[in-house]
Amino acid sequence: MPRLTNKVALITGAARGIGQATAELFVQEGAEVIITDINDQQGAELAGRLGHLASYIHLDVSDESHWQKVAQQILDQFGRLDILVNNAGITGFLETPGPHDPEHLDLDSWHKVHSTNLNGVTLGCKYGISMMKSSTAASIVNISSRSGMVGIPGAAAYASSKAAVRNHSKTVALYCAQQGYPIRCNSIHPGAILTPMWDAMLGDGEARENAINAVAADVPLQTMGEPLDVAYAALYLASDESKYVTGTELTIDGGILAGSAAAPAKS
Ligand code: NDP
Repeated sequence: MPRLTNKVALITGAARGIGQATAELFVQEGAEVIITDINDQQGAELAGRLGHLASYIHLDVSDESHWQKVAQQILDQFGRLDILVNNAGITGFLETPGPHDPEHLDLDSWHKVHSTNLNGVTLGCKYGISMMKSSTAASIVNISSRSGMVGIPGAAAYASSKAAVRNHSKTVALYCAQQGYPIRCNSIHPGAILTPMWDAMLGDGEARENAINAVAADVPLQTMGEPLDVAYAALYLASDESKYVTGTELTIDGGILAGSAAAPAKS
């Protein structure tokens, strides 16, 4: 029995990477999936490939007018939303001039990263709640990061925005429970998942291979994760199987956050 039958799901930043894998899995599990992104070509192609259960809408998560339009469109078409995966996010390394360390950071770059990663999730939750009140069992899944749990010296805005997403998810969870809304909210904290987000940092050819091996060497499970590893976590939190789970955080990072680099080595 598919796990998301009769559910209407919206996923942001779903044209590629973790969002794409989540869209593919949700369609496989029977959901009606609205793929959204700013990458219209890839988003529309993906929806076309996934068939009648998938559609594509342009949505820049940092722009409130886009959320207003999309929310209206979904309410007109489906009358409700059951699942929202706030996945869109940027590191800022490609999208802004930076730098991103705490001593020299460029404030406009800082704002741009927060505008996508934090404002995008905040607006998603705001309009998600308005669309989900008419659901019988709804779930918001916010994609934070392992970087939302620890400091990252060269990516201050990314780490700060992801930490704020972690906390805001708990606020949304408690608010919805307090209001008696049928809406749960949780965060996922991926780490070292091999997606196009890494391309600029990994280089090409042999250099890429070496860089991937170097990242994997720092992961306790000795490999980078796949987008599907995160999609399966989103599936659990989106489905009614997690009906008693709200305000929690799920780390999908091959064990990175389980310990410390200063831990004694195996003798
Ligand atoms: P990708 O960069 O591969 O995919 C992100 C997608 O989001 C792209 O299609 C991108 O479009 C789109 N996007 C960017 N800005 C916006 C915006 N303002 N509105 C809507 N869509 C937008 O990223 P990943 O799949 O790797 O990451 C997905 C999420 O997971 C992010 O929130 C990321 O921070 C988080 N994450 C990822 C980790 C990893 O190791 N990969 C680790 C920890 C967290 P375009 O291509 O046009 O930029």
